[in-house]
Amino acid sequence: MANFYTDNNDLKFHLEHPLMKKIIALKENNYVDKDTYDYAPVDFEDALDSYNQVLEIVGDICGEIIAPNAESVDHEGPQVIDGRVKYARGTHENHQALSNAGLIGMSLPRKYGGLNFSMVPYVMAAELVSRADAGFANIWGLQDCAETLHEFASDEQKNDFLPRFNKGATAAMDLTEPDAGSDLQAVMLKASWDEKKSTWLLNGVKRFITNGDAEVSLVLARSEEGTSDGRGLSLFVYDKAHGGMTVRRIENKLGIKGSPTCELVFNNAPAQLVGDRKLGLIKYVMSLMNGARLGVGAQSVGIAEAAYREGLNYAKEREQFGKAIIHFPAVYELLTQMEMKVKASRSLLYETTRFVDVYKSYTHLSNERTLDKDERNELKNYQRLADVFTPLLKLFSSEYCNQVAYDSLQIHGGSGYMKDYPIERLYRDARITNIYEGTSQLQVVAAIRGVTTGAYLKQIREYELMNLHPELDYLRRDLIEMTHQYEKTVERVTEINAQEESNDYLDFHARRLVEMAGHIIMGYLLLNDTMRNDSFEKQAILFIKYGKSENQQRMHYIQNFELKELGMFKK
Ligand SMILES: Cc1cc2nc3c(=O)[nH]c(=O)nc-3n(C[C@H](O)[C@H](O)[C@H](O)COP(=O)(O)OP(=O)(O)OC[C@H]3O[C@@H](n4cnc5c(N)ncnc54)[C@H](O)[C@@H]3O)c2cc1C
Repeated sequence: MANFYTDNNDLKFHLEHPLMKKIIALKENNYVDKDTYDYAPVDFEDALDSYNQVLEIVGDICGEIIAPNAESVDHEGPQVIDGRVKYARGTHENHQALSNAGLIGMSLPRKYGGLNFSMVPYVMAAELVSRADAGFANIWGLQDCAETLHEFASDEQKNDFLPRFNKGATAAMDLTEPDAGSDLQAVMLKASWDEKKSTWLLNGVKRFITNGDAEVSLVLARSEEGTSDGRGLSLFVYDKAHGGMTVRRIENKLGIKGSPTCELVFNNAPAQLVGDRKLGLIKYVMSLMNGARLGVGAQSVGIAEAAYREGLNYAKEREQFGKAIIHFPAVYELLTQMEMKVKASRSLLYETTRFVDVYKSYTHLSNERTLDKDERNELKNYQRLADVFTPLLKLFSSEYCNQVAYDSLQIHGGSGYMKDYPIERLYRDARITNIYEGTSQLQVVAAIRGVTTGAYLKQIREYELMNLHPELDYLRRDLIEMTHQYEKTVERVTEINAQEESNDYLDFHARRLVEMAGHIIMGYLLLNDTMRNDSFEKQAILFIKYGKSENQQRMHYIQNFELKELGMFKK
């Protein structure tokens, strides 16, 4: 019996991180629900035990149903029939299995039929589903929309929409249009108030919408006539049962084939405003996208885990020159680097998720009671950390996911290029992770703030203070040296940039600077993991060695880069 949760000890390890005590205490708010719901936990151990049990069920469904269906779903894909999407048979079966097990709407409060789970086990479930089938993970993961409704919708809307998720309702996030991709300020789909019908009506086209034919959709639309920027946009919730929207077509794409990517036509589709007008992009979509970026982080780690395992198994079985190929240094080096990248990105994934968890729990708590000064400061601190760690996570995990899938296919040789092994599908599926929910370039645009405001450096300094076994201290010294190089390099870039009128010089080197910070941060995270479990020591040593040489390359490139050379790159 394959169980994707119990066959990977690292997951339970991350679930048992010391900060979980605080996260669960905040999330369960003194375990108030225990008097109302017999399945609500009575204390920390009880809550953790229930996380474990639920993740075992998710792991079982992933290993026994979703992963075995992945190949046929990839082959069959969804279809559009009379303007509606029909899933592949396996997708339907996957959705039914998770829905029957009550695994949709996991993070919602119990009063809406959810499990009131914190983000860590929810994101872990997303990692598991993605390892089984990344395309299906999108359909399941769009329950993030429920989280946005929970945060910003009116009580009436929450009572109407949220209980549907636990009964299996699917969701979609309708942002992108033909002329509004990375630049969502350009969204033009029109929302107009109809006095007679006393409702908002949506008119226009959305494209590239995952699971666009869902029961519940969050739609970004222009509500303010005569505007052309983000301040004229509002967020709407659209209920498919009310009609007015059809699926014009679904894209024929490279990977994640089970996930329908739809072009939608809205024609006087009735919808409700979520929250306040004009805050659609600035506030609500930013929050929605941060959640979705965490989801793509989990998806990336899940695909990378699957690809690593495929490469490892193949290398053990395939013999050339009279021995298994895993015994060739060129092959075992690749495998070791793949494993290291999976573990580093997973540590970053759960660190980021914990930051999100603390600040979200405080935010929800602030709706129930007034937070004291210390709590308000903590909320602010964790929100700031979540803001700068989310793009860093999305950038690194998706790029590593692609690299791991690439290397795994390479280990398969010619067989990897054929449809005979899962790696061919995983390689195609990996490719989307650094494109949607903001390309890697756009993650850098967001993450560079963490460099210029000193937010990454401040957190690196916190990590620097961690308790370490003396025999690991040499690794901390390496990281301190890397931090010194990072500071010097940031200083150089910002000084030169300040001499220019535009920000081009900083933008040109931004990715290099963000990556330097990321290597230091992941080095510390693996070191911290080693303190809790010495099985991480090898990964920490290897990653810090790797990060050190990667950072040196970036530093030397920047040091030897003359300002005038920027002109050579311009097209
Ligand atoms: C399979 C799939 C599923 C999707 N699902 C959804 C969904 O469910 N909902 C939804 O709303 N959207 C969805 N999208 C849309 C997706 O989020 C966009 O494709 C993505 O944000 C990029 O936008 P674009 O394709 O218009 O590319 P563009 O914005 O045109 O970008 C093209 C290139 O220019 C670069 N670029 C653009 N601006 C900058 C900048 N300021 N600095 C540096 N580089 C820049 C980009 O990095 C990229 O390399 C999906 C897309 C795909 C392919």
